[in-house]
Order: sequence, then structure tokens, then C-alpha cells
Amino acid sequence: MSGDNIRMKPIPSFFLIVACFLLTPVQSEEKQICTQTFMCHPNEPNLFLSCTPFVGIMVMKCPEGFNFNSLTLTCESRKYTNCADNNAMTSTEEPTTKTTEKPTTKKDGSCNVWNCKLPDCKCADSLIPGLFQSQNVPQMVFVTFDDGVNDINIDYYRKLNSISLRNPDDCLMRFTYFVSNDYNNLDYVKELYQYGHEIASHSQTHKFPRSWWLNATKKDLIYEMVGMQNILAYKSSIPINNIKGTRMPYLNIAGDDLYTVFTENQFTWDSTMVTIKSQEPIWPFTLNWRVPSKACQNLYCPKKSYAGFWEVPLIPWSDSDAKLYGMTDENNKPRDKSEMLTFFRDNFEDHYLKNRAPFGITLHATWFGKNNFNMEVLQEFLIYLSKKKDVWVIPVSQGLDWVRNPKPMHSLSDIPSWNNANCK
Ligand SMILES: [Zn+2]
Repeated sequence: MSGDNIRMKPIPSFFLIVACFLLTPVQSEEKQICTQTFMCHPNEPNLFLSCTPFVGIMVMKCPEGFNFNSLTLTCESRKYTNCADNNAMTSTEEPTTKTTEKPTTKKDGSCNVWNCKLPDCKCADSLIPGLFQSQNVPQMVFVTFDDGVNDINIDYYRKLNSISLRNPDDCLMRFTYFVSNDYNNLDYVKELYQYGHEIASHSQTHKFPRSWWLNATKKDLIYEMVGMQNILAYKSSIPINNIKGTRMPYLNIAGDDLYTVFTENQFTWDSTMVTIKSQEPIWPFTLNWRVPSKACQNLYCPKKSYAGFWEVPLIPWSDSDAKLYGMTDENNKPRDKSEMLTFFRDNFEDHYLKNRAPFGITLHATWFGKNNFNMEVLQEFLIYLSKKKDVWVIPVSQGLDWVRNPKPMHSLSDIPSWNNANCK
């Protein structure tokens, strides 16, 4: 590792803590300045602000040669800082999406720990829910498969079920299937649900061209996404209340119309947005506040407020050349099992050894056919995870139960969906 990559936790400077007491009584100014717990200093990139309800504003100092980075909340080599241009002091983040719509956010200002509280509000940032130390946080892994379940791919899924791996609480590892109804067998979907996997809506037709989804009307989206929810409920006998999630075909978001349809039709979360690759991955967040561009790199991100609606973002994976992949199976470079396993382990550690934001393994069944070693890689990687006492491979909705109501590792069974009396 080169010296440039050394990352250090912020450390206070005694002198500057004394100075901060001069700032603390300025309550009205504090409210204006503090939009996050840790923020860039307005003038000095080597300094940063710590905002807490009890102490107020404290000015802190990074070690010499390091500057604060408000995206990762750490002191980093100067080359990686984002504070020098004072960007983080602006109260709103302008999206870089390419839409020509005028911003119509319902909420002014930006999200912070005081105006956005669990269980129904979480800002789009890297902060661990409940502000636990990372070693007290269960590392959640969301294995997801997209598209129809049919004669061509059901055997892959059955093979994965047959290894019956278990989480530390002795419950079976389970995945999330985003099902579309093209080339889909609803009896197979029912079989996956009965095993314990989560089923979510991925549209009825999954039609081409890809751009159709960007300009779909509300009526189109109701037919596609809500229509699929109803088909899954009434033809695969899955309680409609258990079909809570969505992912859009081709990860194409149709702006605010899409999220209006989601929130008006019993969906509680979506997993379509792709984030930037930041030093610390972004945790799932709600859309109470306008989504910042760092959390939605897709075209046509929503601009309005959808209180209590969750987004489980796709955190890009990176390979050894720092090339990014929105979905795991986009990387065709690994030439053998060992290289593919390294790709999996390196990206897992980017979550597990940092803030433990949920780690997504995002696949289509076609990936198993791309290399004869891919099935073995996934199985071996899941076996590797099953040996860890702090890693849970669970459906997305179970993961969100923890995010909404976070508990330290020793109290996980206090959350009903995490209580092993309720599992298989
Ligand atoms: Zn798809």
C-alpha cells in the first residue's frame, strides 16, 4: 500500500477544542452550519467540524499532511480530500443527472442526523445506523438474482439451495429474486419463496428498447411493476405484503413518476440506484430528502420527497485495475476460479473491514453459463462467509429490519425477523 492510501481517523487538536468553545454558544449560526455530524471546515481543509446536539460545534484537526474528506468522514492524504473547494459547506447537493426537469424537491436544505431519524428516515451517507462501532454490526450480504425463473436456470438455483448453508444464528442463508414475467415459470418462483427466499418485482415484460424504461409513464409503470406484484401474489401464492421490493429493468429509473408509483402501491423499498465508489460504502437510505448525486448515478433520479421509502443502493464493485461494475456479473475479466474468488473477496472486504454497509452480490443466472467455474466460485464464497460469526446472508427486507431498528450483534434476536425461532 502506498503512503497516499493511508487513511486515519480524525483526531482532535487540544488547542482547537479550546477554540471551539467560543463557537458553541452561537446557536442560530450552528443550526445553519451543521448539516451533518462531521463536516468540512469552511476555510481550512486540514480542519473539520464535529456537530453534536450536546456539545455543539467543535473544530477538529487532521494530522499534518492529511485533509478531511466529508464523503468518507476520515482524514486522508491531501490528494483524496474533497474539502479544499468548500463543496461540503453548501446546503444542497445538485444532482449531476442529465434530466432537463426543473428541481421540485419538497424539502429544502439537506439531510442530517437531527432532521432525519430512524426508523423511517436515514440520510444517504456512510454512517452506520445507530452509530455503532463496526465490530458490533452484523455484516449483511444481499445475494440477488434478476429476471425470469425458468427451465434454463432453475437447476442453478436448486443447486445453491441444496448446499443448505447457514448463518451464525443457524438459519438458512437466503437470497432475493427480482422476478420479471418474461420467460418465467410461476411454479418455480413459488418453490423459491417456499424455501425462504424473498421475491420482488422486476416488471412484467422487461421489454426492449432499454430507453423505453426511462420515459415510461405512470400508467406504464403501474402495469409493469404493480402488475408484476399482483401476478406474484395471486399466481405464486405469495402474500402481497411480502412483495415489498423492486428493481428496474436495465437499472433505468423514470424519475419521480416511478417513485410515486412505488409509494402508492405497497412497495417499501427499491434497489436500482447505483452509487459512486466512495472510500466508505453508502448504507441503505430513505428518500425523505432529495437524493444526492453521490447516491444515484443513474439517469433521471427522483427529485421529490418519498418519506419512509427505502433505497438499497448498488455499491459498485471494483477490479484490480480500479474499473467499476454496477453489477457483479458485468466483470468478464477473471480467467479462472482463483481470479474470480479474489474479485469477490476483495470487494467483500471493502465493506467488512470498513463500515459494514450491506454487501450486494448482484447476478443474473446467465452468469453461471459464462464460465464453468462461476457456480463453484459462488458456492465457495458462500462457504467462506458461512464460517464467519459476524456475517449474515439474508433477504433485503430482513436487512432493512436491522437498518430501521439497529441492534448490536449480541441482541439481534430482539428483531423479530432475526429471531431464529422464526426461521427454517
Ligand atoms: Zn433484468
